[in-house]
Amino acid sequence: MDSSVFAFVEDLRGEGVERVLDRISGYGAAGVTVGAVHHAARDITPHGLSRLTVRRDGAHFTPPGDLFSGLRLRPPAGHQDAFDGLREACGERGLRLHGWTVFLRNATLGEAHPDVTVRDCFGDRGSPADLCPAHPDARAYAVALARAVARLGVDSVVAESLHFRPLRAERSFVPLGPMDAYMFGLCFCDYCMRRAADLGVDAEVAREECARILGGVLNGDPPAQGEVTRAALTAYAGPDVVAYARARSETVTTLVSEVASAVGDEGSRLVFADATGGVKGYRDGLPTPGLAAHDAWQLGVDLVALGDLVPAFAVLAYARDAARVADDVGAYLRSVGKDREVRAVLRPGYPDTDSADRLVAKARAAKAAGASAVDFYAYGLMPHPVLDRIPAALSEIR
Ligand SMILES: [Zn+2]
Repeated sequence: MDSSVFAFVEDLRGEGVERVLDRISGYGAAGVTVGAVHHAARDITPHGLSRLTVRRDGAHFTPPGDLFSGLRLRPPAGHQDAFDGLREACGERGLRLHGWTVFLRNATLGEAHPDVTVRDCFGDRGSPADLCPAHPDARAYAVALARAVARLGVDSVVAESLHFRPLRAERSFVPLGPMDAYMFGLCFCDYCMRRAADLGVDAEVAREECARILGGVLNGDPPAQGEVTRAALTAYAGPDVVAYARARSETVTTLVSEVASAVGDEGSRLVFADATGGVKGYRDGLPTPGLAAHDAWQLGVDLVALGDLVPAFAVLAYARDAARVADDVGAYLRSVGKDREVRAVLRPGYPDTDSADRLVAKARAAKAAGASAVDFYAYGLMPHPVLDRIPAALSEIR
């Protein structure tokens, strides 16, 4: 069974490529998934060069000029030598190398080019990190970025944030229900509205309904009750809002299709990771009830359509419960097709996993449910005693 450990370029720089790869190889992992393009973050890094690590938006390689010349969006420069010799170092240890790529989450680009970011129903562009998948410049950037990472010689390009993202406000003292927050996160930029209109959706009515309902909640109306489902959203906001939300999948499907083709042209393969499982269980490993595969549509992800276009998928199985991991993997396979590769991404420590036995149980559950691979997230974020649970999990599913 295939496997890998996610790692950041800061891990490689801090501890040294040889040492990190030796450790990952020692766990019995088949590969390493290295962050080639990442978003800004401040992370506690228990065994890194610094214990609090500042990451910036950037590409950790030199972007090929032919791919980005003429494009308005170019990736900010990160640690441009991070991949130098990395493939060879992996090869010496028999490790596969995957290029983890964050596509449309980039506040540096968004702040420099606000018009490519999402615009809410009130007309505000308050999410500088969220580049809109419908904007032609963002789409051209994504395709070029995918080619650039594939050209690093990676076995696969692992795509993160290649879809719409949910609303992320840092502070709110207004109680928003899940449906309120969902509507607040919908993009109503000109490109999104035009695409929806082309599909026969009354985009202006959808925008007005979102603004009317959210305006009420911001003015003291009670927030929506219950999780986001198509039925609940129809009852709460009406059919135009639901039709608008569903029309977003065409935007994402066509973008992912272009990116998958570009990656294939460069001799690599795309692994599509949608954020739904992460949204559900990121904070505490206790995901909301709906399975990730069933709720992916909320981010514009149509797994049935993508199953025909993308060779492999990563499901973020951020859950404490092994049975939930199995349920998520199973539902994903039923959506994308049984012959597709589905990889289960597990967190070997807090907040999902409190023992080696629990990690073993989840790896076993993923395999039994039909996963082709297990990936562990992430080297630099987990203490060494936690990472030391990985060998037991991998020997169980070998
Ligand atoms: Zn948009």
